[in-house]
Amino acid sequence: MIVLGVESSCDETGLALYDTGRGLLAHALHSQVAMHEEYGGVVPELASRDHIRRAIPLLQETLKRADVAPADIDAIAYTQGPGLAGALLVGSSIACSLGLALDKPVLGVHHLEGHLLSPLLASDPPEFPFVALLVSGGHTQLMRVDGVGQYELLGETLDDAAGEAFDKSAKLLGLGYPGGPAISRLAEFGDPAAYKLPRPMLHSKDLNFSFSGLKTAVLTVVKNQGAANVCEQDKANIARGFVDAIVDVLVAKCVAALKQTGLKRLVIAGGVGANSQLRAALNAAAEKKRFRVYYPELEFCTDNGAMIAFAGAMRLSINPQAARRDYAFNVRPRWPLDELKIV
Ligand code: ATP
Ligand code: MG
Ligand code: FE
Repeated sequence: MIVLGVESSCDETGLALYDTGRGLLAHALHSQVAMHEEYGGVVPELASRDHIRRAIPLLQETLKRADVAPADIDAIAYTQGPGLAGALLVGSSIACSLGLALDKPVLGVHHLEGHLLSPLLASDPPEFPFVALLVSGGHTQLMRVDGVGQYELLGETLDDAAGEAFDKSAKLLGLGYPGGPAISRLAEFGDPAAYKLPRPMLHSKDLNFSFSGLKTAVLTVVKNQGAANVCEQDKANIARGFVDAIVDVLVAKCVAALKQTGLKRLVIAGGVGANSQLRAALNAAAEKKRFRVYYPELEFCTDNGAMIAFAGAMRLSINPQAARRDYAFNVRPRWPLDELKIV
């Protein structure tokens, strides 16, 4: 069965073809980062318009690379939510129009389920059950995953998401948007002893997070020095202090979640999962505490069409009726993962 995946929830347009027999056939992606950079964040209206411009050429490229004809597609999966309403509507209308034109069923996919299952696309995928840390631009959650559609929320952020903390702190250091990769690169040159920033909720008894105080700590350091006086080495030192603090908290909560559930497999998903310092610290903890940690391929950490095609294909393998010839544009900009039905 060949599933076409369409992702358009935020500022990446992603198209992919996944075959349940042969695996991922091809995928194509366009990131709008350069377009939004001058505004310091995603401008929803510009995002929607750009998805419209990019989707069809990306679809043609994906079909060509996979050597698949439109008629060979068995079902179309699109990101139904959560995300920006206008951006989601573009993907949904493209998926539904294609479905109607080709007489193929369509299936709305939860964006976070796409992220959660993305490590299963790697060459050495984890088996169920596992603990998943979802660390993206909009979410920071620990989940127990027993199978496709079987997710139990163990803890989550009470305020900012980890990716948001990276982006906001990077902005305070004048590093542009999105700041995650930039602050991570700069931290490599920083002195870990220069700034000891707070580790919010590190010792709380639960599996929740809070990152807004960390961002405020970065702001306070920058303000105290006077933004104009923060030299390059200082910036690197602050970046290092920030990265060390956030990584400490993320790793400690992952270890606590494994202990609480008694599981030995940890899966990392979402954009912050691309972070090299986080990966190094998790690998070290895994060796010490004897668990295994799994990551998505680097290119599938941030938003992409492959994870949507894959999540759609997984749901369809369990329940072929999950895709329907119902072509109403139906998006859910707000959609808690625990409202997702078991297949
Ligand atoms: P959501 O999936 O919650 O709706 P999103 O789709 O915007 O949010 P992703 O695409 O998964 O989130 O990830 C983007 C986030 O990942 C951004 O905040 C970005 O700064 C962060 N990020 C990407 N690469 C890195 C990195 N190497 N280090 C730290 N953060 C990173
Ligand atoms: Mg993005
Ligand atoms: Fe995402």
